[in-house]
Amino acid sequence: MELGISGKKALVCAASKGLGFSIARSLAEEGVRLFLCARDGESLARAAGVIEESCSQKVHYKSCDLLQISSRQELIAKVKEVFSGLDILVHNVGGPKTSTVLTTCASDWQEGFERLFQSTAHLNESFIPGMAAQGWGRIIAVTSLSVLEPIAGLAVSNALRSAVTAMFKTLSDEVAPFNITVNCLAPGSIATDRLDDLLSACTKKSGLTREQYMSQYLNTIPAGRLGTPEEFAAAALFLASEKASYITGSTICVDGGKRRSTY
Ligand code: NAD
Repeated sequence: MELGISGKKALVCAASKGLGFSIARSLAEEGVRLFLCARDGESLARAAGVIEESCSQKVHYKSCDLLQISSRQELIAKVKEVFSGLDILVHNVGGPKTSTVLTTCASDWQEGFERLFQSTAHLNESFIPGMAAQGWGRIIAVTSLSVLEPIAGLAVSNALRSAVTAMFKTLSDEVAPFNITVNCLAPGSIATDRLDDLLSACTKKSGLTREQYMSQYLNTIPAGRLGTPEEFAAAALFLASEKASYITGSTICVDGGKRRSTY
């Protein structure tokens, strides 16, 4: 399928590994010009090098702590200097701390707000005017299945990713006349370091062996297995494409059927 995005310019956040890296690589394979960011400069440089080598194209990158306003400002300035504007903006960031609602203190809620909400609002406000002026844009946020089904122990993710989803739905109405689509992609259980850390903590708490815990866990997924980052990236690639021009304001789950609600 011709996706119609070769030569477009994309910023992919939190792209040194996991879901962000996989999305970046799949965009590059379609000829999209990339700017990557992540917190750790060394692993980011390595990730950019891997994509440069496999896709024979220059990959721009800058380390950025998306929680810090000044760091986001430096990233935005660099992207504008290198690309002048953007066609595709992929929001992603490392997951917040685990906690229950009752054990989340005010500073943890604030941290989650900066991490999950403010970082996306800031980048949107910086790049959407350029997309509107050119009459084309794709905005994709990596959220979580937790926006549809709260996950125990992930209070900050459950609450603030839901706020992001509502903000993005509102935004999608505002920018649809400019041919800009805005969608959320909700991963269920995709095999990355983040999921591995969460599963290790749950295994420890359960008192089961890893094998026993995983057997129970996989029973909750109709597909009977974890997803791969490449399977997740395929959905992001489609949403970023010209072909997805009539999909906006949606949350699409990539979860092997794990979501229990009909819609
Ligand atoms: P990961 O741990 O494999 O990768 C995280 C990435 O985020 C890395 O590139 C890291 O450098 C970057 N990062 C972390 N903190 C940052 C910061 N402050 N500023 C900039 N970059 C930062 O995680 P992943 O599995 O790829 O998850 C990506 C997002 O999706 C996370 O928010 C995670 O909670 C969410 N998620 C993942 C799953 C899953 O199944 N993997 C499920 C639900 C939600």
